[in-house]
Parts: sequence; structure tokens; C-alpha cells
Amino acid sequence: AFIFNELNFDNHEQVVFVSEAKSGLKGIIAIHNTTLGPAMGGCRMWDYASEALAVNDVLRLSRGMTYKNAVAGLPIGGGKSVIIGNPKTDKTPALFEALGEALERLGGRYVTAEDVGTSPQDMAHVATKTRYVAGLGDNGDPSPYTALGCFVGAQAAVKHHLGRDSLEGLTVAVQGLGHVGYDYARRLHAAGAKLVVADIETQALERARHELAATVVDVDAIYDVQADIYAPCALGATLNANTIARLKARIVAGAANNQLATADVGEMLRQKGVLYAPDFVINAGGIIKVCYEYLGKPESDVEAHVREIGDTLAEVFARAGREAVSTSVVADQVAQARFKR
Ligand code: NAD
Repeated sequence: AFIFNELNFDNHEQVVFVSEAKSGLKGIIAIHNTTLGPAMGGCRMWDYASEALAVNDVLRLSRGMTYKNAVAGLPIGGGKSVIIGNPKTDKTPALFEALGEALERLGGRYVTAEDVGTSPQDMAHVATKTRYVAGLGDNGDPSPYTALGCFVGAQAAVKHHLGRDSLEGLTVAVQGLGHVGYDYARRLHAAGAKLVVADIETQALERARHELAATVVDVDAIYDVQADIYAPCALGATLNANTIARLKARIVAGAANNQLATADVGEMLRQKGVLYAPDFVINAGGIIKVCYEYLGKPESDVEAHVREIGDTLAEVFARAGREAVSTSVVADQVAQARFKR
């Protein structure tokens, strides 16, 4: 019962454990589904408190990539890998070379990229052993495309839910001004939105105050802001019964992965009249960019593909309204219709 009953398996095609004594690599590669193409998703490095947590994480994350990639209309499946270790102290080139060798043995069924705890430089070490790696950093960071997807997603949500063609004068509560959050905030400001922001880093806050006329609030106060849109761009799982009760915003549109603490939170938002832009639909801009780069498709076409996130969300919102179900349920169904054969 230890493996198949206890862990987050959901029709995963293949899970590979890699252990290499010389480099100290302890890694897990999870290929969730390859119906639409080779599995693609980042490599996370994390000092997991237990091996079971690492397995659960990679199973959950790889499944999520299948849904994200399918809804984004990309010709790739879903996968993810994790390296067990502290990214601040345990990284060596040999570790990532060993991962590259493991990917090479999989013959292209899984393609990796950077993620939490790994960097383009780490991926360059992977690339010395395999070509099944993307996002090597030669032409930059996917975050601006993730931010663009969030922005067109917010526009679609405002149009559907508030009946407005513009963000002018609306207030957006942005949680987290990192790679994605800051760029998203910049676009919102340029479109005439008022910003209320929170971050644990004071530098980003100062910049937002000066450059974007943002109002700064305490980290915990972001849930209480009198805003039209709540934009989670920091951590996952920020939406739960407690935070939803506090939210004044009528729309949730942000970049964070796994925003719903539990699956039933999608329905709770619907009942409260809050329109939720499902995380894996609105935050696909980055993977679209990475996928184009990997497949050698022109970067000049990426923007148009990312902008389709707005149309996809408009369809998800309309169908959820017609069927009186949550947007997260509809988004899951759209994904499943594409990858389940
Ligand atoms: P990042 O690390 O650059 O930024 C995160 C920001 O959140 C940082 O400024 C950090 O100080 C801040 N933060 C941390 N804890 C906070 C808290 N409790 N309250 C407020 N702010 C807090 O990360 P990123 O690349 O901008 O990604 C943001 C989110 O979007 C993550 O959840 C990530 O998984 C998701 N995402 C990112 C991309 C991408 O292209 N980078 C793509 C898809 C999803």
C-alpha cells in the first residue's frame, strides 16, 4: 500500500527514480501524459523534508503540466522532475550532468527546463549530456510572457464579469512583485489600473511606489484590500475559506501555480460571485515561450499564441456561466478533452 495507495498517482505513464552516487544525485522524473507530445515541465530542486513529499510533489506537478500544456494548445505532454537537495548549498555541475544522462536514457519522452531552485546555468550543465532540455537562457526569461498572459487574462475577466472593455480606474491587489508580478503590475499601470501591492522584499515595493504609483500594504493585509482584482503572484494555495471570506475583489487573476488550497475552493469562489481565472490557463505564457524555443519555432509568433490565453479564458468563463459550474472544473474538462484518448 505504500506506493500506489498513499501517493498522488493519477494515471501517470512513467515515474523514474535516479540515484547516482558520484554526483550525489537523488532525483525523480515523472512523465504524466504524452498523448499530445513529449512531456515538458521544469526541474525543481528542493530540500524536501521527506522522500514521500518529493514523490508527491513531482506527481502533482507533472499532472498539472499536462493540463497546462493541453489547454495552451501546445504539442507537448506533461512531466516534471525534482532533485532532492538544498539549491543554495548542494548544487554542482556534476549533479545536473547526471540528470542530463538520465534524460538522455529516456530518449526524449521528457524535456526539462528551469523551475524553482534551478537556473538557466544549471540547465546548461544538463545540456552537455542531452538535447532534451529547454530554456537555456540564451534568449531570456519566460516571465514577461507569463505576465502578458496574466494581463490579457485580466482583460478577459473584466470584460466577462464587469462588462468593461478597459482596466482604467480599476484597483488591482498584486501579491508578489517578482519576475512575473512586477511586469504584470507594469502592464496594469500602463492600462490605467490603480495598484495596491505587497511583497516580503522592500526593494521591489519601493520601485513599484515610484515607478507605478502603487500603494504598499503589509503582506497579510493584501487579502483585505478594497480591490476589483486580486492577483496572486507569489505563493500557491493562497485561496482558502479564510482568505476568500476576506477578499473584496470580484476577480482573481494572477500567475501563481496551484492557487486553490483545495479543489472545492473553486466552487466556493463561484458561490461568492468571484470570477476565478484558473491558474494553469492564465499562467501558461512562460511554457508557451519555452516550448517555442525548444521546438525551434520563431519567437515572433510567441506573443500571438500567448494572447490566445484571453480567448481561451473567455470561453471557459462563458461555459462555466452557462453550466453553472466553477471555472476550475470547466478548465479541467477542456484539458481532459484534449489529452484523454
Ligand atoms: P519570483 O520568485 O520572481 O517572485 C515571487 C515574489 O513573491 C518575490 O518578489 C517574493 O519576494 C514575493 N513573495 C514571497 N512570499 C510572499 C508573500 N508571503 N507575500 C507577498 N509576496 C511574497 O517568482 P516568479 O517567477 O515571479 O513567479 C511567481 C509565481 O508565478 C510563482 O508561484 C510561480 O510558480 C508562478 N509562475 C511563474 C512563471 C514564470 O514564468 N516565472 C510561470 C508560471 C507560473
